[in-house]
Amino acid sequence: MTGTRAPPRIQSEVETFIEYPVYVGELGGGRPAIQVERERVRFSIAKSPTPRRLATRHNFEQPDSVYAPKMPVDAALFDFAKTIESDQPWPRPACPSCQTGYVGFSSPTEDESHASVSARDHFAFEPEWISGTFVIRGKCENPECQQAVYGTGDYHVGLSQKSNRDDEFERQGPPYSKYYTVTHLHPPMWLMPIPQSAPDEVREAVMRASRVLFADPGLAATALRATVERFLTSQGISATRHNGQFRNVHERIKEWRDADPDRPQVADLFFAVKWLGNAGTHEDSDLTTIEVLDGARVLDEAFHRLFLGPDIDAHARTINAAKGPSRQP
Ligand SMILES: [Zn+2]
Repeated sequence: MTGTRAPPRIQSEVETFIEYPVYVGELGGGRPAIQVERERVRFSIAKSPTPRRLATRHNFEQPDSVYAPKMPVDAALFDFAKTIESDQPWPRPACPSCQTGYVGFSSPTEDESHASVSARDHFAFEPEWISGTFVIRGKCENPECQQAVYGTGDYHVGLSQKSNRDDEFERQGPPYSKYYTVTHLHPPMWLMPIPQSAPDEVREAVMRASRVLFADPGLAATALRATVERFLTSQGISATRHNGQFRNVHERIKEWRDADPDRPQVADLFFAVKWLGNAGTHEDSDLTTIEVLDGARVLDEAFHRLFLGPDIDAHARTINAAKGPSRQP
């Protein structure tokens, strides 16, 4: 901290949980055995969190620590964004409820569309004409959670891309597979993890983007940009001019950036999310879910630089207050 910078102003007191890795021994090959401890803490959210790059984020090998998330943006969501071929394993996303278990899905149940069924009588019928909708049921594998998750979407039949031939069309000649495209998951999977000390309005905005991630990627990108706007509002960057006119995001990010010499790097990440949101808002937007997930990666990096510092500071305060590890009796 330089001598010229004012201490952050206090916004509010928050009670929450923090998780941190604790060294409990050694595994084979000199690898540390680390256990995640969870504890309830009270801390203050600074009105002007100072962006900082956290060396600690990448230092822990322990995958369950909040300091080193399993994946910044869940890799399973990238798999869900692609078309899934029949008999291929379904992605196992992190549970949206407990966020420690994974959701395992059973095989899809299909409903062939009426038009598709009618076309089967056509003299030129090909299996590739078959299409309809499907549902999948999933459950969190964490026995303490067991959150149910439902998915739905469209399927069609196409030439198989996998080598093993074992489907109902085999006897008809060329190998065919069903191809599933997910359009909704409920409850929605978190588009990106939210640091504990992020303001509630930021958390809500990410949830809004998560709800439409597969159904309308353009809208999801717009909602992701709104997440940046909510953050700027929480930072006291006004959404309107003196005459009541709305200010554009670009102008607001610049105002936020110019208020602190440490901010330009994070501001660049915000600008990227803004451009993506602008592309998504366009009437003829052809933004894909994968592109939105890539945008979420950028925003996730910005939030880590902004919010993880306060989380770690809070933990340091509990250690300092207890003059040692702070443990529940
Ligand atoms: Zn769960």
